[in-house]
Amino acid sequence: MPMADILPFKKARKPDQTLCRNGHHKWRPVKSDPFAVHRGELITRFRCERCGLEKTKAT
Ligand SMILES: [Zn+2]
Repeated sequence: MPMADILPFKKARKPDQTLCRNGHHKWRPVKSDPFAVHRGELITRFRCERCGLEKTKAT
């Protein structure tokens, strides 16, 4: 079931990407990152829930 269906009070059905366009992404950590382990670096990859944009952050 799409997450939008459990938010009946939202006016728009599609994810609101207005914040994304303004640079306020909803980052979630992507735990399955093979590159971080492969290179021996502590890098966390994040993905935006709304627009799917990805970024990496060295910790
Ligand atoms: Zn975004």
